[in-house]
Amino acid sequence: MAVYNPKSLKAEEFINDAEILETLEYADKNKDNVELIDSILEKARPRKGEFGYTCQGLTHREASVLLACEIPEKIEEIYRIAEEIKLAFYGNRIVMFAPLYLSNYCVNGCVYCPYHHQNKHICRKKLTQEEVRKEVIALQDMGHKRLAIEAGEDPVNNPLEYILECINTIYTTNHKNGAIRRVNVNIAATTVENYRRLKEAGIGTYILFQETYHKESYLQLHPTGPKHDYAYHTEAMDRAMEGGIDDVGLGVLFGLELYKYEFAGLLMHAEHLEAVHGVGPHTISVPRLKRADDIDPDTFDNGISDDIFAKITACIRLAVPYTGIIISTRESEQVRTRLLNMGVSQVSGASRTSVGGYAEEERPHDSEQFDVSDQRTLDEVVRWLMENGHIPSFCTACYREGRTGDRFMSLCKSGQILNCCHPNALMTLTEYLVDYASEETKKVGYKLIAEELKKIPSEKVRTIAEQNIKDIQNSNRRDFRF
Ligand code: SAM
Repeated sequence: MAVYNPKSLKAEEFINDAEILETLEYADKNKDNVELIDSILEKARPRKGEFGYTCQGLTHREASVLLACEIPEKIEEIYRIAEEIKLAFYGNRIVMFAPLYLSNYCVNGCVYCPYHHQNKHICRKKLTQEEVRKEVIALQDMGHKRLAIEAGEDPVNNPLEYILECINTIYTTNHKNGAIRRVNVNIAATTVENYRRLKEAGIGTYILFQETYHKESYLQLHPTGPKHDYAYHTEAMDRAMEGGIDDVGLGVLFGLELYKYEFAGLLMHAEHLEAVHGVGPHTISVPRLKRADDIDPDTFDNGISDDIFAKITACIRLAVPYTGIIISTRESEQVRTRLLNMGVSQVSGASRTSVGGYAEEERPHDSEQFDVSDQRTLDEVVRWLMENGHIPSFCTACYREGRTGDRFMSLCKSGQILNCCHPNALMTLTEYLVDYASEETKKVGYKLIAEELKKIPSEKVRTIAEQNIKDIQNSNRRDFRF
C-alpha cells in the first residue's frame, strides 16, 4: 500500500488515499471542537509585520476541519478572514482574463465533457491561424490583455506544434492599441520536453485541472484515451516544473466526487509542489460541473450548493494565502458577487466557450464546452466590479518582468504590492477605459482611479503612475509597468 509522502514524485504517495480518508475522519471528529477551530482560525489570520502582512496558511488537515465545521458564527469568521487575506495580499484588485477555445477535437472519453470522442452530434472545429487572428482581434477589441487557451487532447488534430503556432499568432497579432500580453495554457498533460517548448513560447501559467483526486472515480470518469492514466495526469505539474514552467494552476471539477475529498486532495497537491519545488501553485480554479451538449449535470451525484461552494472557496483562501483563486463565467453574476468578497482574485469576462465564438456576432452554441451563466459584456463586468469596490486589472507585468514562481510569491510577501501591482492595475485599467469602455463605465472608472492613486505609499511611484496615466489618456503610449 502507498504511504503518504508529500515529497514523493509518485501520484499515489503525494495524493494518498489513506491520508485523505484519515483527514476526513479527523475533520469530522473535530467539526464541533470550538477550541481547535479557534486556534486554526487564529493561525490563518494575516499578521502585520515590518514589511506588510504575512500569513502562515493552513495544512490540509487544519483546513479540512474548517470545511467540516457547521457552526454558523465560525463559518462567518472563515468568510471574514478570507476577505482580510485577500485584501492584505491582493488589495481590491481583480485580474481579468478570457478563455480562447482553439479546437474541440478530442480523443478522450471524459464522461462529463461534451468534447468526449463518442459525442457524434457536437460540431467539431479547429481554428486556422487566420481564424485565431480574428478571435484575437475580437478579444482585443473588447479590451482583453490576458487569455487562457483551451483545447481538447488530440495528437493528430491538435499536436503541440499547432498549440505553439497559435501562441505565436496570438502574441504577434496587434489590432489598434490592442495586445495580448499573457497567454496561459490549459491543455492536456504532456511531456517535460513539451512543457519546455511551451515555456520557450512565452506562456504564463500552465493550467491543468485534476478533475478528481479520487483515483477510482478518476478511472471511471476517464474510461478511455490518454487521460485515463491517473498517475500521468496527477504528476503533470511536476513535469511542467521540471520543464521550467514555474507558474502552474491547479483545479478540481466540483460535482464529480465528494467535495471534502477533493478539497483535501487539492491542498495536498499544493503542499506537494511547495515541498518538492519550493513554490506552491500560482492559481487554483474552482470550476463546477455545468450542463453541456450530451452532458446533464443532474446525472452526477455530487453537485454542491452555492453555500458549500462559498465555504470551499473561503477555506482555500485561508489555506493557501499567496495563491490566486480563479472563478469563471460558469458561475452567475450573483455567485460571483458573493465570492469576490471571499478571496477570489481573478475572473473571466464575456467568455465564449465555443471554438471561433468571439468573431461571431451572436453567441454560438454548436461547439460550446458548457453553458455560460454570466453572459454580460466585458464593459458590464468591468463596471460591475468597480461599482462593487474592486479594481479590474489588465496587468500582465509580473511574468514579463520575470516575477514568476517564488519571485512572485516574494513580491506578495514583501509588502511591495501597493507600490507595484496597485499602480500597474490602475494604469492598465486606464488603458481599458480610454480604448474600449462606454461613457458610463469611463465615468465610474476615472473616479475610482483618482481615489485609488492616493493609496500608493511611495510618493515617487505615485507621481510616475499619475504621469503615465496622463500619457495614456493623451497619447497612444501604452504598456507602462513597474
Ligand atoms: N482538454 C484539456 C485537459 O484534458 O485537461 C483541458 C481543456 S478543457 C477545455 C478545460 C476544463 O473544462 C476541463 O479540465 C474540465 O475541468 C472542464 N469541463 C469539462 N466539461 C465541463 C462541464 N460539463 N462543465 C464545466 N466544466 C467542464
